[in-house]
Amino acid sequence: MSLHHPYDDTLARYAAGRLGAGPSLVIATHLAGCAECRARVGLFEAAGGALLEEAPAAAVRPDLFAAALRRIEEIAPPAPPPRHASPLDALALPPWRRIGSGLQWRRLRLDYAPDANVIMLKVAPGGKMPHHTHRGTEYTQILQGAFHDEFGRYVAGDCIEADDEVEHQPLIDSDVDCICLAAFDGRLRLQGFFGRLLQPLLGI
Ligand SMILES: [Zn+2]
Repeated sequence: MSLHHPYDDTLARYAAGRLGAGPSLVIATHLAGCAECRARVGLFEAAGGALLEEAPAAAVRPDLFAAALRRIEEIAPPAPPPRHASPLDALALPPWRRIGSGLQWRRLRLDYAPDANVIMLKVAPGGKMPHHTHRGTEYTQILQGAFHDEFGRYVAGDCIEADDEVEHQPLIDSDVDCICLAAFDGRLRLQGFFGRLLQPLLGI
């Protein structure tokens, strides 16, 4: 059972086809394992995004968004959406590349969106993710293991959205490798030793 889910406005943008290819892949992976968010997306799809199309998502005040959501719930009781297979099942995943002690990564190529920045990271227990900040939003789905940072603890099934206010260095605290799927809709700035190694490899 996930404790951390994508924000409602992200699910609404996903439902309306307005999320980039990379972030959409992360959200679809979350949906494959999260009935609660599948129901939310089903609700947005049932409403056809009509209410949300009236104003750009970025300009919607939270109280207006909540009011719109209540209206959608009134007019469109959620139907149970079909179970989705994980989109990762359909992708040919490249081999892992080791870039340091306890840290491996691979970049996913999406045929339909060659420029999308989507990576998987595998970090050994006790290891740290590269220290980084973002320009734009980073979407991360935890596929295996767990980590924590100064904001909380996150386990397999959780989805985390971090915007450019966040600067963090997650620490792996599971007894198995932590594997994450991450996409960025802006530029990622990596810092520290692994960051300097990873940045040129990613070409971002
Ligand atoms: Zn969810």
